Amino acid sequence: MKQKLLISSCLIGNNVKYNGKNNQIDLTSLEKKYTLIPFCPEVEGGLPTPRPPSEIVSQNPLKLINNQGKDVTKFFVDGAEKCLDLAKKERIKKALLKANSPSCSNSFVYDGTFSGKLVKELGVTAKLLKDEGITVYNENEIGKL
Ligand code: SF4
Repeated sequence: MKQKLLISSCLIGNNVKYNGKNNQIDLTSLEKKYTLIPFCPEVEGGLPTPRPPSEIVSQNPLKLINNQGKDVTKFFVDGAEKCLDLAKKERIKKALLKANSPSCSNSFVYDGTFSGKLVKELGVTAKLLKDEGITVYNENEIGKL
């Protein structure tokens, strides 16, 4: 039986990105090895598509705002918790999540000033999954899977 791999929904071509588009990648090699379980934390957390882009402005306490200044923290936390629930239910140990996303990134996120500057930090969902022992990869690390 193939191992399960949680994957950002936008990476399999679903139009769930903030701008209504996707980040589709070539899944040929992954599909041979894994059963893919797609999930979009921002959509499942209750945000619409398309939606204004959001950034993390504070880690402690956690706060995210969109580019119109609205506090969207609750949507991001709800989405992350739903993602973790799914991962636990499906006994998922690995996730392939989109780089640089305030939800999904395993390495860098935008710094909260909406100026395109990245800082070394995890997205909200990636952090929660990692804290629970799930290994999170991004789309530039497919060779490690
Ligand atoms: S929250 Fe994650 S899955 Fe959803 S669009 Fe953003 S990067 Fe893709």
